Amino acid sequence: MDSPYSRWESFDASWRELASRHGAEERIGESVEGRPIRAYSFGPAGAPAVMFTGLLHGVEVIGAIALREVARALVGGAGLSRGLADQLRFVFAPIVNPDAYAANAERVARGARAWVRGNARGVDLNRNFAPAGPARSASPFAGSRWAFLPHFAGPHPYSEPETRAVRDLALATRPKLALGFHSFGNLLLYPWGFTARRNPRAVEYERLGRAFRASQPGARYTLRQASGLYRTQGDLDDWLDAELGTLALTVEVGTLDRRLLTLSRLLDPFWWMNPLDVRPTVENTLHGVLGLLEAACSSARAVDHPTEPLEPRRGIALAARR
Ligand SMILES: [Zn+2]
Repeated sequence: MDSPYSRWESFDASWRELASRHGAEERIGESVEGRPIRAYSFGPAGAPAVMFTGLLHGVEVIGAIALREVARALVGGAGLSRGLADQLRFVFAPIVNPDAYAANAERVARGARAWVRGNARGVDLNRNFAPAGPARSASPFAGSRWAFLPHFAGPHPYSEPETRAVRDLALATRPKLALGFHSFGNLLLYPWGFTARRNPRAVEYERLGRAFRASQPGARYTLRQASGLYRTQGDLDDWLDAELGTLALTVEVGTLDRRLLTLSRLLDPFWWMNPLDVRPTVENTLHGVLGLLEAACSSARAVDHPTEPLEPRRGIALAARR
């Protein structure tokens, strides 16, 4: 059986093929090592946009595989889209950090350990956006000024071409909703990461999260404000929420299971992040995402037609204005 963990070239090609049949492709930037960073869009141009990102962290491949299944379900004619594709515009940037992905995939293919998280300059791209607030944290995960640490935030916000590509895509797209795919932890996280202060739209985030959980056939993800896990500075979700009013969630795909029973896997960070059998993890995530998108659509309809007794005005996901 082929490994589900393919080389960058073939993973990239699978997205291009999907877009050539059902949507449009755009080159939104170039990585430090010169690989293209691409975005794909599907659906009616004027519809509310949902932005999906993957592989900001180049070792979290199961997140990216789950994201590709989401795309195939929504726009690939698999019969799972439940009409969502007619109501929403979907914009995907599935391989934001192609250099790290390529490096890890090459190592996995020859049986070497793989752990590259940041870009080719060692910057953690999910600490390289403009911070949503001034708070600093002593947590080693928050974003570091030290280049040798895995959570190195870079010399300044948007110092990296990969981060700028995502920023510019978001500014052009103005997404109402954004889902960033990472791994692992079976978690659904919403802003803020920079402060423990409760997000003013926490009720709305929690409503979407409940819809995600209720649609999952397997172990249900835990929903929490990101700062409850650990503080972060300069992450994409905080910036999207603060700057664009986007409802922005991170999906931490999968969990540690019995895959670490052998010593070689225990010593290889790649297998902490990524399961041997991708199918159950992907299915469990896919159905959660579809449930969340349906809930977001239904609340948008409730705002468009406020006299309809759908949901009271507390859920305004896709029609959110601020
Ligand atoms: Zn991550």
